[in-house]
Amino acid sequence: MASRHSIGADQETFLAELIDAGLLIETGAPGLYGRGPVFEQVRLGLDAYLARTTSSERAESLRFPPVLPRRQIEMSGYLKSFPHLAGTVFAFAGGNREARKQGEAIGRGEDWSVHQRMTEVALAPAACYPVYPAIAARGRLPEDGVTVDTGGACVFRHEPSRDPSRLLAFHMRELVRIGGAEAVNRWRDEWQERAPDLLRELGLDARLAVANDPFFGRAGQILARRQRTQEMKLEILVRIAGREPTAIASLNRHGDHFAATFGIEMPDGTVAHSACVGFGEERIALALLRAHGLDPGRWPSQVRKEIGLN
Ligand code: AMP
Ligand code: ZN
Repeated sequence: MASRHSIGADQETFLAELIDAGLLIETGAPGLYGRGPVFEQVRLGLDAYLARTTSSERAESLRFPPVLPRRQIEMSGYLKSFPHLAGTVFAFAGGNREARKQGEAIGRGEDWSVHQRMTEVALAPAACYPVYPAIAARGRLPEDGVTVDTGGACVFRHEPSRDPSRLLAFHMRELVRIGGAEAVNRWRDEWQERAPDLLRELGLDARLAVANDPFFGRAGQILARRQRTQEMKLEILVRIAGREPTAIASLNRHGDHFAATFGIEMPDGTVAHSACVGFGEERIALALLRAHGLDPGRWPSQVRKEIGLN
């Protein structure tokens, strides 16, 4: 099947440059790259910059593995909305005979999936997904709700591409706000100013735009339209490579979707609301490399200082 994401010469050239410079390391699979020391220094510096500049949130730091209990992704609705992006984990299930047959099939380059069974885990599609069930398990929220900082979590989306900005596995750093509808909506509104400013401080020409998630199929088009009319999703866009700008961060209002699904309640028993702000770390690092050049040693000193490269 042709990729949904057509890519142009600019993306191909940028990818080749990143690989030549040792910033990214080819693995053989489109969308999956190793990260060289300079790229990683930039990404980790950026992660620390985001942690520092969002510390006034006094968010609770929670960290989760890159895989989720499968039940959680089933409950979340992700498999209905984004069946094309989800990654599930299968593992060998069989005895000696099946192990031998599997090995032989692999040796012959044949399909060996018949020997695999779906496991109890799936790949995390966003950093905030494991947060909702964890908060629900605590019982009712305090009056002013909670704010969680997920750190730079490794997430997966099955959208293979040769565009270096469209990865299969990448780090997403999120702040998640869960509480009363009014407080949550106010919080997301505040972030409309703050998030683009944080990125402009790094010399990026960032602008905010109303957006929609890539919902699957015809029914998905209706969901996408509704998401736009209600301004549920905003994205921070920057030109990286190609004609279209790329989203480097998003600000999402979920209404009571996650709270109702996982049972997160306010002190009076009403269903909470939630919102999240997600920063794509690799994409921001790529935007910086595009804006300031492939050698961070030559970046403007203000940018170097902010992300701790001095
Ligand atoms: P989303 O939940 O789709 O709004 O994603 C949050 C952020 O993650 C986006 O704004 C991007 O910065 C980043 N992101 C999403 N998909 C990808 C991808 N395939 N490769 C790299 N970064 C991504
Ligand atoms: Zn989120």
